[in-house]
Amino acid sequence: MFQKKRLILFLASIPMFGVVAAFGLAPDTVTEQIEQQALSQAIELPTPTLTDSGTFDFWREERIGSAETLSHLLQRLGVAQEEIAAAVNAGHEAKALGHLLAGRTALARVTSNGRLMLLRYLPTEDRMVTLERVKGGFKAQELAIKPDIRYVTRAGTIQGSLFGATDAANVPDSIASQMAEIFSSDIDFHRDLRQGDHFSVVYESYFYQGSPIKTGRLLAAEFVNDGQVYRALYFRDPKGRDGYYTPSGQNMRRAFLKSPMPFTRISSGFSSARFHPILKEWRAHKGIDYAAPTGTPVRAIADAVVNFAGRQGGYGNLLVLNHQGPYSTAYGHLSRFAKGIKRGSHVSQGEVIAYVGSTGLATGPHLHYEFRVNGEQKNPLALKLPNAYPLAPQYRSLFASSAQPLLSRLDTARNSRTASLD
Ligand SMILES: [Zn+2]
Repeated sequence: MFQKKRLILFLASIPMFGVVAAFGLAPDTVTEQIEQQALSQAIELPTPTLTDSGTFDFWREERIGSAETLSHLLQRLGVAQEEIAAAVNAGHEAKALGHLLAGRTALARVTSNGRLMLLRYLPTEDRMVTLERVKGGFKAQELAIKPDIRYVTRAGTIQGSLFGATDAANVPDSIASQMAEIFSSDIDFHRDLRQGDHFSVVYESYFYQGSPIKTGRLLAAEFVNDGQVYRALYFRDPKGRDGYYTPSGQNMRRAFLKSPMPFTRISSGFSSARFHPILKEWRAHKGIDYAAPTGTPVRAIADAVVNFAGRQGGYGNLLVLNHQGPYSTAYGHLSRFAKGIKRGSHVSQGEVIAYVGSTGLATGPHLHYEFRVNGEQKNPLALKLPNAYPLAPQYRSLFASSAQPLLSRLDTARNSRTASLD
């Protein structure tokens, strides 16, 4: 059910982004120029091509939901209703399409009028199932493969929204979400984004016989927010622990997230004040408001013990979390608390703790969020919060050598962007 809701919201939000569809861009955009000039190494989801019938083909990748059926997946991939029965029928020839694995992805080439040309799905890293249009219908096939992993470098500039910009730069959603997650201790993408902010990403893309089958991991990212440069590099140490680090070896994961609202394509459309400075508002009522529909999940910004979960005056349903040291956070106007949340329960960073509502003195559904030091409201943006988890000293030189090629790719992406703006 959740997946269906997501689809509807996505479609509804398209006009706001000012882009036609995720990968359905017209060929001569600024983005194209950036790619051609700059990214000699760029391998990407292919740009749309004009077909014989005058429609556009585009590639789209979706993450499979829990217990999702092939028919539902095809709908989400933009396949027209009248195609689905035949495709699902043919799909029965391949066992793996009968029980799709949640969390894995499927990639499809679909025309702008909803004709499925090709579906690719990898139940494991070395097996691929395809569902391909053939004369008179579809044909399913399962084969053993050895994918070819390549690096993709992409860059973009924020005009109206983060996902609008990643769409325009042809960055897959999974990479856009990973980027938002990695910078979530530094940037509140709901509130901090500025027009002209820009980003570069380097990520893995899996190819088979020259065409894409799957997007891999984000390896490096740069985000320039209001003039401030943030960079993150993926590193796995010899013991197999991995994470994202700044070029100087600080872990990107901090003790505190910047925002209690997870940033997703859906939630990115919520905030009406994304480009407005919040300082004045904060002074006025000592908290930060996030406009969002009732039921939107709220997450803990840090590990904590629940101090209060109940009704409190104008706050309505209020949750107060005690974090390490003098820090606590409060979440007001909630519609309800998550399962198991009560005084004394332990929560971890990022865990869903409650849902947005309009209880108490609220004119509409929103989250009222407060950051407190020794019980007193403080503007979290003005605080120096503790860092955590630095890179172990014995891995520093290894990190430096693995960081070097990624940094130079980010440099290339940035320079090319500058060149294309001249
Ligand atoms: Zn408020």
